[in-house]
Amino acid sequence: MDYCLWCDVSFYQALTWNSVFGLTEPDKLCEECRQSLTIISGEICRVCGRMLEKTPKGFVDGDTCLDCIRWEMIWPDKNFKNRSLYVYDGKMKEWMNRFKFRGDVVLCETVTSEWKKLWLKECQNEIIVPIPLSGKRLYERGFNQSLVLAQLLDGEIKDILTRKNSEKQSKKSRSERLQTNADFFQLKEGIGLSGARIVLIDDVYTTGTTVRNAAQTLFGYGARSVSSLTLARGV
Ligand SMILES: [Zn+2]
Ligand SMILES: [Zn+2]
Repeated sequence: MDYCLWCDVSFYQALTWNSVFGLTEPDKLCEECRQSLTIISGEICRVCGRMLEKTPKGFVDGDTCLDCIRWEMIWPDKNFKNRSLYVYDGKMKEWMNRFKFRGDVVLCETVTSEWKKLWLKECQNEIIVPIPLSGKRLYERGFNQSLVLAQLLDGEIKDILTRKNSEKQSKKSRSERLQTNADFFQLKEGIGLSGARIVLIDDVYTTGTTVRNAAQTLFGYGARSVSSLTLARGV
């Protein structure tokens, strides 16, 4: 008998051939909690990875959403893409609150297997760079959730970005948040990125402003390509 790391009910693992022979890790979530998380699947925007099925028709042109078309007008010819694992719906918000604001880092074990699978598929050969928190937020929270998520992967991590602007994104209006400001981030000193291929790690992709600004900073230092991998993505 196991206990669900999220809701704490006791449950029996579903028996499959793979689990009987020890080929898959036992699940850390009960079946009900597992099924409450929605993995992004089907057709996605080629740039930002949002599920096209959940995107209003008027916001899609072919295989690209209008947000991304707008971003490509602001920053053309840049080699950027985002991929996300889960839809950021009510259940995922609950999960994220418990992880980030209640500091339940162990909860990450419930997503590690799927998270690694997405990374192996999309960007396993890229240098992993976590999105930094401001010094003040890091002090309040005690850990950087993006670094924790990066550490679940088996790649080389370079914690090379710092944040210049600590103003809370969530206190701004949508249009303010969408405004581009490549001055959000800076590189720690003495690091060369010429020709580097990088994957940024963050918890949630909302408007894309955070990861795209970080990407611009990295392009400015010579990175060849920048992807971002986020645990969840707004619909
Ligand atoms: Zn559960
Ligand atoms: Zn898009």
